[in-house]
Amino acid sequence: GNLLNDIDKVVDADRAHVWHHLIQHQPFQTGAPRIIVEGKGMRVWDQHGKEHIDAVSGGVWTVNVGYGRERIANAIRDQLIKLPYFAGSAGSIPGALFSEKLISKMPGMSRVYFTNSGSEANEKAFKMVRQIAHKRYGGKKYKILYRERDYHGSTIGTMSAGGQDERNAQYGPFAPGFVRVPHCLEYRAQWDLTGEEYGIAAANAIEEVILAEGPDTVGALCLEPVTAGGGVITPPEGYWPRVQEICRKYDILLHIDEVVCGVGRTGTHWFGYQHYGVEPDFVTMAKGVASGYAAIACCVTNEKVFDMFKDDIEDPLNYFRDISTFGGCTAGPAAALENVAIIEEEGLLENTTQMGDYMMDQLNALADKHAVIGQVRGKGLFLGAELVSDRASKEPVPEKQAQAVVADCMAQGTIIGVTNRSIPGFNNTLCFSPALISTKDDIDQIVASVDEALGRVFG
Ligand code: PLP
Repeated sequence: GNLLNDIDKVVDADRAHVWHHLIQHQPFQTGAPRIIVEGKGMRVWDQHGKEHIDAVSGGVWTVNVGYGRERIANAIRDQLIKLPYFAGSAGSIPGALFSEKLISKMPGMSRVYFTNSGSEANEKAFKMVRQIAHKRYGGKKYKILYRERDYHGSTIGTMSAGGQDERNAQYGPFAPGFVRVPHCLEYRAQWDLTGEEYGIAAANAIEEVILAEGPDTVGALCLEPVTAGGGVITPPEGYWPRVQEICRKYDILLHIDEVVCGVGRTGTHWFGYQHYGVEPDFVTMAKGVASGYAAIACCVTNEKVFDMFKDDIEDPLNYFRDISTFGGCTAGPAAALENVAIIEEEGLLENTTQMGDYMMDQLNALADKHAVIGQVRGKGLFLGAELVSDRASKEPVPEKQAQAVVADCMAQGTIIGVTNRSIPGFNNTLCFSPALISTKDDIDQIVASVDEALGRVFG
């Protein structure tokens, strides 16, 4: 029957049996959980038939090409009928073709390892680093550096590299061998410098950690190109060249986590790191790879890394002894091929840059009107507006107020996000990542909702 006619049953079933991500369930005893029923372009409809403009691409920055893409659905359908799955050392047609396509967008990189979540892709890179340490350095160069405020996933391994304390609270103990380096958010400066000098200082802080740990114990540095959930933190000028230099100096592999930034989100380039001239050894990606139409993630390496897993045929351990069961699903690469084709054919990298610049201007205009916006940051259609009670002291607004802005927008039919909700004394950053197909009208609608919400919540 018609799902919508039975929607009360769906809501009851959900309330009784679904454990939702990221939420305390008490309010569902009286209020209804939200069910998203349908989507088209930038818009979704909920169980009440209410239309929402989606400024966060499926909640967590994923549906980059928008909803209702029949060609992706058709490609998945055709592939599933031909061959849905095979794993255990065999390849597949879409896997090979998508790998070739992907590598053509990533000069310097050469190999694609398929998995099914961002966390898992990062775990693969961590395991490769560890294996290289054993193979090349007698197990000594095993430490993996990660940055305060960065996030790399929900597993115990990736949480061991987790830079957001409130996400890690109550889940320890974590895995050993992960070491934290300072964040690079100039707005909340740790050094009395600005611009390029600030960026160099933030990178030099990484070198200090390396020297304190001992460079011969540090195998890799894992960073987000633009920190996402940690507050939409764009790197200061001067940061990346110095980071690259430091990695080369101490023979440290550079792992870029593109789970959010990858595949067009930041505009102009396919990947975030490509804005900064970075030459990584590992690039991990997930959300935008197939825009959420299928679960697919990739751990991409350069040939230098790959070669270390095949250069010694006499050693029975000299290959990557790892599998991801659902890395053998063919729907993922079949969908990803179409996803990339859509971005190319519709000029979405260019649109993302243009609309991202427009949205940045509109948000800055809002900041002129609402003193509660302390800073607007971002790259492409990946933007954040940090909320402060006082611009001079940069005291963050109470978490409840930031959530009230999100709720007010939701009531208006505009879905936005907020990061860093519960880091005490830290920031609350409204977060925007609309689909790469956004138009000026879409952005105007989103920004108008935020304008009204800020007016109501902060007066
Ligand atoms: N890395 C970054 C930067 C992320 O933002 C996320 C998820 O939000 C992950 C990794 C983990 O990806 P997944 O949830 O697919 O495991």
